[in-house]
Amino acid sequence: MLSVVVDSPNSMAVREVPLPVPAAGEVRVRVRYAGICGSDLHIFHGKNPFVTYPRIIGHEFVGRIETIGAGVDAERLGQTVAVDPVISCGRCHACSIGRRNVCRDLTVIGVHRDGGFSQYVCVPADNAYRIPVEIADTCAAIVEPFAVAANATSRTGVLPSDIALIYGAGTVGLTLLQVLKRVYGIRAFITDRLEERLQLARACGALEDEVIDASIERLPEALARRGVDGGPTLIFDAVGYPAILEEAVKLAAPAGRIGVLGFSSEPSAIVQAELTKKELTLAASRLNCAMFPQVIEWIGRGLIEPEHIVTHKIDFRQVAQAFEQAEQRPAESCKILLDFTAM
Ligand code: MN
Repeated sequence: MLSVVVDSPNSMAVREVPLPVPAAGEVRVRVRYAGICGSDLHIFHGKNPFVTYPRIIGHEFVGRIETIGAGVDAERLGQTVAVDPVISCGRCHACSIGRRNVCRDLTVIGVHRDGGFSQYVCVPADNAYRIPVEIADTCAAIVEPFAVAANATSRTGVLPSDIALIYGAGTVGLTLLQVLKRVYGIRAFITDRLEERLQLARACGALEDEVIDASIERLPEALARRGVDGGPTLIFDAVGYPAILEEAVKLAAPAGRIGVLGFSSEPSAIVQAELTKKELTLAASRLNCAMFPQVIEWIGRGLIEPEHIVTHKIDFRQVAQAFEQAEQRPAESCKILLDFTAM
């Protein structure tokens, strides 16, 4: 089979590798589409401290179960599945309190073990969620980023009275926007500096006055002008710059919650008194905790529409060009899907 292998930082090849054999409890999936995530670019450039090389990357993918390992129900053969990349031990403190995504011995498919940028991949059967026939493969391929958004909103909670602010209209911001607006139906502002991204935000359901171009307007004034009295009650940092968390803490309304999704290793200069005075909650969110069934249900009901964030489909053998597209032309590229259906 052909796989996208990152041999070492900045060295990637599409190469023939042996077909993997599913272990007990695993299934082998014939991949159809796989989404390129910012974290794949980080692994490629050697900026993910957890990854080991060589590695077949990719943690957002859909495909069809074509072989099963011992102990797996034969009914699963032929199912179209989206794969949750989170594998946990089930015994540590985090797992025992239902927080398996931060398991002490966390294994992430495409990071710690081989992933979905491959014609075939073996995964635990329990991680492979059946996709109903009415959901398109291109939508099912990116259940994972929506599960990230669902996890973040589950961590912060969403109240009907919330006024939300999302920093960043990339994949994370746009998935959050869809969840907040289409699932919860609350007012949600989104800010970015790229007009093309703000255009995607409109397609994802942002009203005209909910879109704030940060290259034109300063945020405090922009919110005041739009009648937000006392600051947003729910803020998500989907960018991850230290200065954004600092601003979010200043802007948040009393009793506000801030969802933190960034991975910056630079410290933020957060003022304790702002946190305490307003009794703010900082809710960090990583990956997702068993959110796939919820997201698949939302897609099935038409509440969220993954296709709005997909900007490109590129044959997986052109993965180098796909990465270049993502990195060199970020304004025009949001979610890029690698297409494995041609062969
Ligand atoms: Mn991802």
